Amino acid sequence: MTYFVTGGAGFIGSHIVERLAKRNSVTVYDNLSTGKEEFISEHLGEKYFRLVKADLLDVSTLSREMRGHESVWHIAANPDIRKGTESTMVDLEQNTIATYNTLECARRNDIKTYVFSSTSTVYGRAKVFPTPEDYGPCLPISLYGASKLACEGLVSAYTELYGIKSWIFRFANVVGHRSTHGILYDLVEKLNKNKKVLEVLGDGNQKKSYMLAEECVDGMIYGFKHGKDRLNYFNLGASDQITVKRIVEILLEETRLKNVKIKYTGGESGWKGDVPRFLLDNKKMAKLGWKPEHTSEEAVREAAKIVVKEYLRKSAQSWLSVQKQ
Ligand code: NAD
Repeated sequence: MTYFVTGGAGFIGSHIVERLAKRNSVTVYDNLSTGKEEFISEHLGEKYFRLVKADLLDVSTLSREMRGHESVWHIAANPDIRKGTESTMVDLEQNTIATYNTLECARRNDIKTYVFSSTSTVYGRAKVFPTPEDYGPCLPISLYGASKLACEGLVSAYTELYGIKSWIFRFANVVGHRSTHGILYDLVEKLNKNKKVLEVLGDGNQKKSYMLAEECVDGMIYGFKHGKDRLNYFNLGASDQITVKRIVEILLEETRLKNVKIKYTGGESGWKGDVPRFLLDNKKMAKLGWKPEHTSEEAVREAAKIVVKEYLRKSAQSWLSVQKQ
């Protein structure tokens, strides 16, 4: 098959490319704003692979480059909730309009299948835990969540109107290799600057669900192969939660730093628009035949090892010296 993966040079996108490439032909369309060529370096120059460095807001390039593909996987987005709160246009442009552009180009190019990476944040402060896919009303509390819900609406309408078959995957928090944002990454960056005091956003009791990137992509590919509806929509996440306090403990164990004073900033949310608790119901995927293998704690433990290792490799000589003490 021929796949067109937007955001394929990013964290989750590069894991998707890893799974799809070789047996299929893959085009990655990415402006490299947060993605990196090194994440997909093993495919560069290969016959089955093409990287187009371009922006989703450039519709003529997008439409031209998408032509001839069988399936669009739209993974690119602004994934950073805080950035969208500071600048209110970011999520509208980078998520809603960019998604509209991919759908419109898919329609013009007569592309048959479309996959969209959505998020648990579309549910907002849900009142039902675990939250099933049909929960409603969905009332997001961030511009990021609002834009993703708008995107889902567009995917649904294009599916109904133009005969595209589509998949919406609502991810829990995704962690692992090549992550460039998120709690573990933020905390490691902070620790690299200050190994005595670690500031943690919120009161530490936020409780969320985590999943490794490989597992997330495994679920997407399984759902893509087995989803029989015109519009398929699935939660993807572990069946349990982990608190921020526990994540901090795990990370500190993995860094082997001792006597770090933890300073919680307080409040039930880490930042404005942060949903402090969520747990996705994954029975729908289970009914289809797929279940995540890792608990949230296992995923966080594995990701903490990876983040610390990757961070050490990238920068911190200073850190190494502290670890040896
Ligand atoms: P990421 O920042 O690593 O990946 C986004 C990719 O899109 C990057 O390669 C970036 O360069 C590219 N991109 C962004 N804007 C673009 C534009 N205008 N034109 C072309 N390319 C552009 O983020 P990620 O964590 O891998 O997120 C991937 C998807 O998964 C996003 O849609 C995000 O909303 C969703 N998601 C992520 C998480 C998570 O925990 N990481 C959770 C829920 C949903």
